Amino acid sequence: ALRDPLTQCHNRRFMDEYLIQLEYQQARKPQHIGFIMADLDHFKMVNDEFGHLAGDEVLKQLSVLLKQNIRKSDLLIRYGGEEFLIILLDVKDSAAILSIAEKIRKSVEDSKFILPSGGVIRKTLSIGTAEFPKDADHFYQAMKYADVALYQAKDRGRNKVIQFLKEMWVDESY
Ligand code: GH3
Ligand code: MG
Ligand code: MG
Repeated sequence: ALRDPLTQCHNRRFMDEYLIQLEYQQARKPQHIGFIMADLDHFKMVNDEFGHLAGDEVLKQLSVLLKQNIRKSDLLIRYGGEEFLIILLDVKDSAAILSIAEKIRKSVEDSKFILPSGGVIRKTLSIGTAEFPKDADHFYQAMKYADVALYQAKDRGRNKVIQFLKEMWVDESY
């Protein structure tokens, strides 16, 4: 199983395999790759207030929104419960990554999520971005950095896109 049954997104296992492949491709034809980590804000509230099935429904609708905002050649991975990783292949520069991330953030902010009860709720998304090879020499490091930026987005009030900056990394290693 390489896809998540709920959202039909790729799963972590797929990602691990894919990144090995991408490394070989990278050796033949280097390209810029964007990493976008996105996590729903206060998602636990959806489960608590409307039930787990409602939460599942929001996740499904979110994955559709995410797919609509990326190219077919980009990768959408369900990284954790309500955390998604997007890998943008052959991306132009940091500005391009940021603009896609911002488009995604805005589309979630503007969307109405329809619950199984028929009710409608609004949700927001926090996003961190990092760029390979500008920010990191390894894919997993770039992903970690996108995650660090995501936590900055949470810290700074959520519903934000934050680009990774070297100063955000305080640990010695990853
Ligand atoms: P934050 O804004 O800090 O991200 O807060 P949050 O509530 O989104 O984050 P938290 O990590 O506290 O809660 C995530 C919740 O997501 C807890 C978990 O039960 C729920 N969750 C994870 N996977 C699924 C799933 O597949 N379906 C449903 N319905 N809920 C899920
Ligand atoms: Mg969350
Ligand atoms: Mg989370």
